Amino acid sequence: MTDFLDTDIKYLKGVGVERAKMLSSEIGVATFRDLLYYFPFRHIDRSRFYTISELSGAELPSLQIKGSFISFNVEGEGARKRLVGIFSDGKKMMECVWFSKLQYFSTAYKIGATYVIFGKPGFFRNVYSMVHPEVEPFDPAKPPTGFRGVYSITETMRKRGASTRLLQTLVGNLFANTGFSSVGDNLPEEIIRHYSLMPLPEALRQMHFPSDAASLRKAMERMKFEELFYVEAHILRYSMERGSRIPGYVFPRIGEKFNGFYFNVLPFQLTGAQKRVLKEIRADMKTGRQMNRLLQGDVGSGKTMVAFMSLLMAIDNECQGALMAPTEILATQHYESLRQWADPIGVKVALLTGSTRASERRRIHEGLESGEIDIVVGTHALIEDTVRFHKLGLVVIDEQHRFGVAQRAAMWKKSATAPHVLVMTATPIPRTLAMTVYGDLDVSVIDELPPGRKPVTTLLRYDSSRMEVDRLIFSQLREGRQVYIVYPLIEENEKLDLKSLEEGYRRTCETFPGYRVCFVHGKMKPAEKDHQMDLFVSGEARIMVATTVIEVGVNVPNASVMVIENAERFGLSQLHQLRGRVGRGADQSFCVLMGKIKSGADTKKRLNIMTETTDGFLISEADMKIRGPGDMEGTQQSGLAFNLRVADLARDGQILTRAREMAIAVLRGNPRLLAPGCQASPANDSDMKPLPLSPAGVDIIARELRLRFARAVDWSQIS
Ligand code: ADP
Ligand code: MG
Repeated sequence: MTDFLDTDIKYLKGVGVERAKMLSSEIGVATFRDLLYYFPFRHIDRSRFYTISELSGAELPSLQIKGSFISFNVEGEGARKRLVGIFSDGKKMMECVWFSKLQYFSTAYKIGATYVIFGKPGFFRNVYSMVHPEVEPFDPAKPPTGFRGVYSITETMRKRGASTRLLQTLVGNLFANTGFSSVGDNLPEEIIRHYSLMPLPEALRQMHFPSDAASLRKAMERMKFEELFYVEAHILRYSMERGSRIPGYVFPRIGEKFNGFYFNVLPFQLTGAQKRVLKEIRADMKTGRQMNRLLQGDVGSGKTMVAFMSLLMAIDNECQGALMAPTEILATQHYESLRQWADPIGVKVALLTGSTRASERRRIHEGLESGEIDIVVGTHALIEDTVRFHKLGLVVIDEQHRFGVAQRAAMWKKSATAPHVLVMTATPIPRTLAMTVYGDLDVSVIDELPPGRKPVTTLLRYDSSRMEVDRLIFSQLREGRQVYIVYPLIEENEKLDLKSLEEGYRRTCETFPGYRVCFVHGKMKPAEKDHQMDLFVSGEARIMVATTVIEVGVNVPNASVMVIENAERFGLSQLHQLRGRVGRGADQSFCVLMGKIKSGADTKKRLNIMTETTDGFLISEADMKIRGPGDMEGTQQSGLAFNLRVADLARDGQILTRAREMAIAVLRGNPRLLAPGCQASPANDSDMKPLPLSPAGVDIIARELRLRFARAVDWSQIS
């Protein structure tokens, strides 16, 4: 019956073999179902016409304009040859540009007749223009009504003549297919009734062809609920199990090492937040179940100390510990911090990375196997099979997002009893997102910075204020401080980016003679990069000109200025991470965001958030609202085994809460839906009553879970 949705897209009217290939490779649409769930990312009110004088700024949405063509001319040569149509709305003019089928388009439209053009305007050489717009004749007797969906189309597709129009036609063909009547709901009736949700077939139609704003809202709500319900059900199916099943070491005592360190070595007072988190960790490691805890703490909040003291708890209970970092530089820095703290209490720490020499490596392997080494700090090298432990009790992973789920799993396979796991991240993740992404982890938060830190003063400046910025740098250099100057990662436009970076380096050397400047970017050989980094860490170089490769977590407390060039090209969370590289000492530090005078109001507003707050959570939330959670650094590789298509975690917190409650009720009421070996003792954060379903309802959910998460990570395999 539902086989209809699994039909290969090539069988849809209007598709065929070639288009099927394009749809599947470009936007992942391989079946009828994929197409139905390929929703417009925006809906345009068909009764709203823009005027050309209303257009402003460089980044405009798709929109429609009514008017007429004045002329068509072919311009340019060779590959740049294009057809330019001048389009007037009666007051102002803009250009319509075609790069292919010039012959056809030059005669397709009548000069002087009224048309509606539809597309995403750009602004080049002081004129607004639309590239390959959709053009429809305008009939005043039948003005357009309702909404029109706008689909995202890749550049390749566009070049091959695909447009929003094509997608609309195809979806229309799908709805017209007689087979569509066989599409049933993918939520049980009980749930649909409970929340008065729009039934699936209608919701799908409304998503693509909304009849009015209210129906569209209702359809969205239904699709969001469905999506979040299945995500929550998927996570809870396993997380219920985790709590009850995986045994872990029991660490009953706080012993000599911990106390010796705490009373005699600890160079400062722990913050309240650090103490609280340590208590949470200690409680976890006493339960007899494996700890899986995510420790979030803003940059500079003192996570390393928490990690070290947790490792001491393991050592006091006759276990070893490991601390894993994503890069060699970071691992080395951690090693040096840890050794300072560990030496006085006789705890033995080793460093193992990709560049550890063979003889040293062998010695460390032996020391770990015999139990002589207490803590090993390292990079991915720790995951290698040759690394064996005497008794590994706790693994701490720094900067979680660089390590995948599989790598975490590889660590726990290193001992018969699963070691406790503490994952640390400085990427602040709003609560709603954490709940979803890390449904399998408990979350601790360090929400307090060590005392005496002055918040970094953040300034938004433009090229016209270069001199002022230079003076600021000078004054800090004269006080003996160090300076970072950061450029965007060399990327889309590699040549141009490298050029501006090199120019920046030259300019810096000329402007600040007498101060050594080092230079780091991602396309460098690793050895050279390390050398340049070392120059800065050791203080020999006073200024570092770099792309964002400057490592997350690098700690040079003497650095007091960070200048970020082309700040508009960075995400807010990324800016926040970068800014965290300064302000690590007790003196005043500065972060200067160099913006473009010409950037739009949105960009300025976004950058201004940085000047107003240093709270990583506020920034992250703002960032998520602006960019959507899909873009958030950290979520992509964090083990998030699904993509959200309709739901937006920044805005749909309420729907998420309902979906989660319902998922809990359903799993409690229908243990058959739980992962194998799992007991129904789910999420104690809810008092939802079990909701027993009819057998048909259970089948629907089981089927949908398989369908959606068949390729997802299998957590039961991992643990
Ligand atoms: P992050 O959380 O970004 O990893 P770190 O662990 O690198 O932060 O800590 C930043 C700096 O703050 C380090 O120099 C560390 O020694 C110091 N620090 C940590 N905890 C405290 C505290 N309670 N009081 C004072 N300084 C602290
Ligand atoms: Mg750190």
